[in-house]
Amino acid sequence: MSETELVLRSRRVVTPEGTRAASVVVKDGRIAAVLPYDDRAPAGARVEDFGDDVLLPGLVDTHVHVNDPGRTEWEGFWTATRAAAAGGITTLVDMPLNSLPPTTTAAHLDTKRAVARSKAHIDVGFWGGAIPGNVKDLRPLHDAGVFGFKCFLSPSGVDEFPEVDQQQLAAALGEIAGFDGLLIVHAEDPGHLDAAPEPHGPKYADFLASRPRISENDAIAGLIVLAQRLDARVHVLHLSSSDALPLIAAAKREGVRITVESCPHFLTLTAEEIPDGATEFKCCPPIREAANQDALWEGLADGTIDCIVSDHSPSTADLKTADFGAAWGGISSLQLGLPAIWTEARERGHTLDDVVRWMATAPAALVGLDRKGAIEPGRDADFTVLAPEETFTVDPQALQHRNKITAYAGKTLYGVVRSTWLRGRRINDGTTLTEPTGELLERPHRP
Ligand SMILES: [Zn+2]
Repeated sequence: MSETELVLRSRRVVTPEGTRAASVVVKDGRIAAVLPYDDRAPAGARVEDFGDDVLLPGLVDTHVHVNDPGRTEWEGFWTATRAAAAGGITTLVDMPLNSLPPTTTAAHLDTKRAVARSKAHIDVGFWGGAIPGNVKDLRPLHDAGVFGFKCFLSPSGVDEFPEVDQQQLAAALGEIAGFDGLLIVHAEDPGHLDAAPEPHGPKYADFLASRPRISENDAIAGLIVLAQRLDARVHVLHLSSSDALPLIAAAKREGVRITVESCPHFLTLTAEEIPDGATEFKCCPPIREAANQDALWEGLADGTIDCIVSDHSPSTADLKTADFGAAWGGISSLQLGLPAIWTEARERGHTLDDVVRWMATAPAALVGLDRKGAIEPGRDADFTVLAPEETFTVDPQALQHRNKITAYAGKTLYGVVRSTWLRGRRINDGTTLTEPTGELLERPHRP
């Protein structure tokens, strides 16, 4: 007995070959076929016709701080995965820090998985962490299925996840290159941060001056040299400084195995608009000027920047004091990334095909998840149904993440998520979320 088939139809289905009218046949949780819109559905199949609403692949967000266990008052797997599902995301990869324990040993990974298993509304994978002294733990974490390893070059904000110095970075990357793993890097150079004026008080300009572009640029330049020397795969997290784009583009041309992400806040918010004391906009590296943002969009358009991911990093409200020096650095946007980016992208002449490439296909490829990130036969039947011409105004209270704080409060955005589908099951109908049916993912093993 095979599963009853499901057919999802839309006049606008975003496929790797472009957007077109199509019928997507789902069987056993996978996409079995993508057929012409008017094709007769198989006998007995259930048909859902979305009309002019757009059928997208479920988004893949490879940069989420879930903080569970240990800082569950900041966020947790239950709330984070509900926010993701409501925002059209069907796969997330959890960052190794801000939870207690951090994901820096295989035993800690087991702890995280045990906590996540029953709470995951979408599919969840894990990054490992590279910190001083845990080189011996990297291979066991890799074998246990993490998608790669995160390190910081400057203080992370939490004591249990220290940064690595250049020697420790080289040791970790050498080990990771030995099994052809992936190192993902928070690239801000600590020397330049130390030399910059200390941030304090409510003025955003003072905070911005404390995290200069050169700190990102030099850290990335050093990483490129190291990746080249060790023939290692590296990924630059949350790129904010557009000044680094030419050197990244040059490295890519020379065959250095480097990829880059940026985030909705760098691409849709600007330093000029941030009010004094508004630390819901604080993150590291910081949101920069409008001209910098324009250059980041050029980097996306020409392929220098590969993907857009949230870097959702919430905290409790009491840690978001009005002092930019003291406040927790992190922006909450898990549920809003798609509409925020779509609103800006359409304004700049980009299509939903571009948005899908940046927010689904490329992040899936980054972590080797061939089953995710595109509507084509053989992939998981993960979908988002979007009304791209419809707008809504962001009400923080309506968001699913734990602490109702966001830099997008009050913004009017294009793109209403009508429903979200995970392996052929509707998990979000636009108002209600089902019980958790997400799976814990491991890095696919290559033959
Ligand atoms: Zn982060």
